[in-house]
Amino acid sequence: VSFGFKEVPEESKESLVKGVFDSVASSYDLMNDASSLGVHRLWKDSYVSELKPGRKGPMRCIDVAGGTGDIALRILDHAREKYADRETSVAVVDINAQMLKEGFRRFKKTMYHNTPQISFHEANAQSLPPEVFPDNTFDLYTIAFGIRNCTSIPSVLKEAHRVLKPGGTFACLEFSRVNNPLLSMLYDQYSFTMIPLLGTILAGDRDSYQYLIESIRKFPPQPEFAKMIREAGFVTGEDVDGGAWEDMWGGIACVHKGVKL
Ligand code: SAM
Repeated sequence: VSFGFKEVPEESKESLVKGVFDSVASSYDLMNDASSLGVHRLWKDSYVSELKPGRKGPMRCIDVAGGTGDIALRILDHAREKYADRETSVAVVDINAQMLKEGFRRFKKTMYHNTPQISFHEANAQSLPPEVFPDNTFDLYTIAFGIRNCTSIPSVLKEAHRVLKPGGTFACLEFSRVNNPLLSMLYDQYSFTMIPLLGTILAGDRDSYQYLIESIRKFPPQPEFAKMIREAGFVTGEDVDGGAWEDMWGGIACVHKGVKL
């Protein structure tokens, strides 16, 4: 695992990731907008609307590595605005209390605050506490821009499989591999120069943003990640909405889906 420019051992990754998000929590939403020029909003909108929360009636959802609640808010808004559904609920789970605190503060300004539709939980995606999240509980498991920060992807997938009901959907939005060489070059240039610079200017924290970029480069490419999802017991591929994954912007981001049988 590399942090800034130094290599650090794998076992310290968890506390390191915690530190990174502690330090970026209050500026996280602003930085997301600045570094992606707002594009992360479009990706998240499209990710959530493709999942159609609420279409078949109220759903129990879990948004893991949910941070400040970007995905949870979109799920609840989609269900309400499209299907007049005020019963779909989202449990937001994150390892970092500061990120959850920002999320809680944000939800205070919404109609979901103090309703059974939203809850926040501090927990590790790799070992969700079974007393809070029993087996076969959720209809939808989402994880957006979070799985690459976890030490063990197979453990996250195993937990996702455990907490989903049979027939439940696993959906992951993550930065992925750009296959077009020209786009890939432009993207590298942009991310290795602009993002740490923006991190310094907007958040006063270059190293944390440098870590975030490097973690993107280390994440397995689309076919390899799809294989891991299948190995965790999910069905992917042609049977699930046309494919195991769907690239956004040439693979800068990508949505992987699977269904628990
Ligand atoms: N899903 C949100 C979004 O799309 O805006 C937040 C994404 S943010 C880039 C990644 C989040 O993953 C951080 O809030 C971080 O605390 C969380 N995280 C990292 N490792 C985790 C783990 N092992 N278990 C749970 N959350 C984790």
